[in-house]
Amino acid sequence: MDTQQLSSRDLIKLAETHGAHNYHPLPVVISKASGVWVWDVEGKKYMDMLSSYSALNQGHLHPRIVDAARRQMERLTLTSRAFHNDQFGPFCELLCKISSQESVLLMNTGAEAVETAIKAARKWGYRIKGVEPDKAEIIVCENNFHGRTTTIVGFSSEHQYRDGFGPFGPGFKMIPYSDLEALERAIGPSTVGFLVEPIQGEAGIIVPHEGYIGEAARICKENNVLLMLDEIQTGLGRTGKLFCYEYDSIKPDILIVGKALGGGLYPVSGILASKDIMGVFTPGDHGSTFGGNPLACAIGSEAVKVIVEERLDERAAQAGSYFIERLRAIQSPHIKEVRGKGLLIGIEVKESSGTARPFCERLMELGILAKETHQQVIRFAPPLVIDQEEIDWALERITKVLT
Ligand SMILES: *Cc1c(COP(=O)(O)O)cnc(C)c1O
Repeated sequence: MDTQQLSSRDLIKLAETHGAHNYHPLPVVISKASGVWVWDVEGKKYMDMLSSYSALNQGHLHPRIVDAARRQMERLTLTSRAFHNDQFGPFCELLCKISSQESVLLMNTGAEAVETAIKAARKWGYRIKGVEPDKAEIIVCENNFHGRTTTIVGFSSEHQYRDGFGPFGPGFKMIPYSDLEALERAIGPSTVGFLVEPIQGEAGIIVPHEGYIGEAARICKENNVLLMLDEIQTGLGRTGKLFCYEYDSIKPDILIVGKALGGGLYPVSGILASKDIMGVFTPGDHGSTFGGNPLACAIGSEAVKVIVEERLDERAAQAGSYFIERLRAIQSPHIKEVRGKGLLIGIEVKESSGTARPFCERLMELGILAKETHQQVIRFAPPLVIDQEEIDWALERITKVLT
């Protein structure tokens, strides 16, 4: 079937007939993209203000990343880790260098990387900290989002993420976010790690109080607990630093990365840690058929180089300050709060104005693709390559919809 001849309506109908309904997408069918822009089947142009949940920090089809992918695709794509490949070592070295870590374990999706971090922390707990067998406990935060595997949704506070998917395993303790006293209270002799996002993205761009991550790092260190930082969404330039933890001048014990690591082309994720921590993994302990494959490594290397060499972190900081400032200046009866860091921005809509969804639908009509998160929040997280003219273009439309 030649899909080019089908209209958006027909394609949506096909998707709804034959695809599982585990998403509620805006009614737009994208068929082409470049930079911050995407086009639907009928040729209408939209600005992408979601960036696939920050997996497109470098913009759609960044020429350098597409080129690296194409070159690698014509040479070697998959070896499995049963053999070495020539792309793996250099990519690991690059990742360690940009994060000041010593060792990396590569996976594919974010959820797999989080699972890997959980396994690392538990085994570290038993082998190094000396926690009693099968008693390891990991502290997590209310409103967390770390992915969709059964283990991970098992420690979600979101009813829908868990509903119908139990039974869930033990080993997680939930505390409020941005609450250091709760963290101190929650730590016990079997605590091996504190798994936390530096900004809670899916929860609605929840920015913790200043110094939270820094203090959490100190508390973890004092108690011999690993700080497991999930920077899958906040990392790689999104919040105005290469990693959001840099705002607190700390280094996590386990750094979890994904999303933009694949440059918007390919799923690439992983965890980074010291040799001591990563050393708990021995051959056969953990693995992935596709994790660390040569295509992923070639794409990941170029994706990181683009962020570093184009200074996308600094661009996000500058563009983000401007964007947030201008959003805050909008006189709207619907806005409760504008918050965020760098280009991870949320507008919370007052409950008296209804949910965020209709605002996103109106934005779509005006050519801006943004997605609501958690009912009341419109997320603006464009590719970091967005320029001021494009932000002004968006602001004009956002202002129209909100006033
Ligand atoms: C998206 C996300 C994940 C899960 O990544 P997937 O690639 O969808 O599995 C985990 N943690 C955070 C903070 C995320 O934003």
